[in-house]
Amino acid sequence: MDSPHPTTESRSASAPSTGKRRVQTNVWPEHQQTLKRAVRVVGRGYFTGEEVTVELRPAPAGTGIVFVREDCHPHVRIPARIDYRVDDMRRTTVARGSARVEMIEHAMASLAAMGIDNCELAIDRPEMPAGDGSALDFVLAISRAGIHPLRERADVCVVGSRLHVEREGASLTAEPHPEGRWEVRYDLAYDHAPAIGRQSLTFQVAPQRFACEIAPARSFLLEQEARWLRSQGLGCHVTPQEVLVFADTGPIDNELRFDDECVRHKLLDLIGDLSLCGRRLAGRFHACRSGHQLNGALTVHLAQCSGHAMQRCSA
Ligand SMILES: [Zn+2]
Repeated sequence: MDSPHPTTESRSASAPSTGKRRVQTNVWPEHQQTLKRAVRVVGRGYFTGEEVTVELRPAPAGTGIVFVREDCHPHVRIPARIDYRVDDMRRTTVARGSARVEMIEHAMASLAAMGIDNCELAIDRPEMPAGDGSALDFVLAISRAGIHPLRERADVCVVGSRLHVEREGASLTAEPHPEGRWEVRYDLAYDHAPAIGRQSLTFQVAPQRFACEIAPARSFLLEQEARWLRSQGLGCHVTPQEVLVFADTGPIDNELRFDDECVRHKLLDLIGDLSLCGRRLAGRFHACRSGHQLNGALTVHLAQCSGHAMQRCSA
C-alpha cells in the first residue's frame, strides 16, 4: 500500500470556497437530508439465506448512517463509518463488539447517492437483505419514503490532493475534482473469464442517474466461485436465475440488464464502500480491479484526513 502524505479538506457544503475548487451544490442540496418516513425492506441474506427485515427510519441531523441490531438485548447501534468496518470475504461488514451487520454496501451506496445524510437502519439479523443482488430494493424504498430536508448544513469531504492505495495488482486513486463533483471510474479486467473480459466506466454520482444506471446492476460470480461458496454452505438457496453466475459463454439461465453490468456493479460497491468515510464526497476516484478491502483502505485515509481538516477549519 502506498499513501504519500495524503491531504483532504472537509468543510460545509456552503462554506466559502477558495481558488478554483468549488463544492458542487446542484446535485444535492447544501443542507442535510433524511427520510420523510420509515420504510421497510424485507428479503433474505445472500450468505446466510435467513429472512431479514430492515427498517429505514428518519434520523436527526448529525446522526449519520447508523445500523441498529434490534434483535440484540440491549439494542446495539453500529455507526456505518470506517472505524467500525471489519474485514469480511466478498462483502462489507461493520461490527461493534460481537454484533455485526454484513453486506451493507448496496444500502450504503443508495443512501449516499440519493443524498440521505442521516438514517437509522433497524435490522433483526446480522446480514442485510440481498434482493436481486442489486441496489434496487433500497433505491425504491428511499423513493417510497421521500426525502426530508434538515436545517443543518452538510459536511463534505473534499479530496485536496492525490491519495493512492494498491495491493496485488489492484489500485485505487483519489484526486481533486476541478468542479468539486463526486466522480468514480472503474477498470475491470477479468482476462481469465472472457464472458466478462475488460470493462471501464466513469460515472458522476447523482441521484437520478444512480437510480437508473448503477442501482439495477447485480452482483456477479464465476461458475467456479459459486460452486466453491456452495461447498462452504454459503448462498445455497440462490439459483442462477436469482444471481448472475457466469460460465465461459455468458450468464447461466439469466440475461444481462446492461452489456457492462459487471463494471456498473463494481461502481455500486465502490460508492457504498467510500461512503463509510461518513461525509459527502467531492473528488475523482479511479479504481483498477479494486475490491472491498482496498476500497476500505482508501476510505481510512479519507476519514483521517477529513478529521484533521475539520479541526483546522474550526480552529
Ligand atoms: Zn455488490
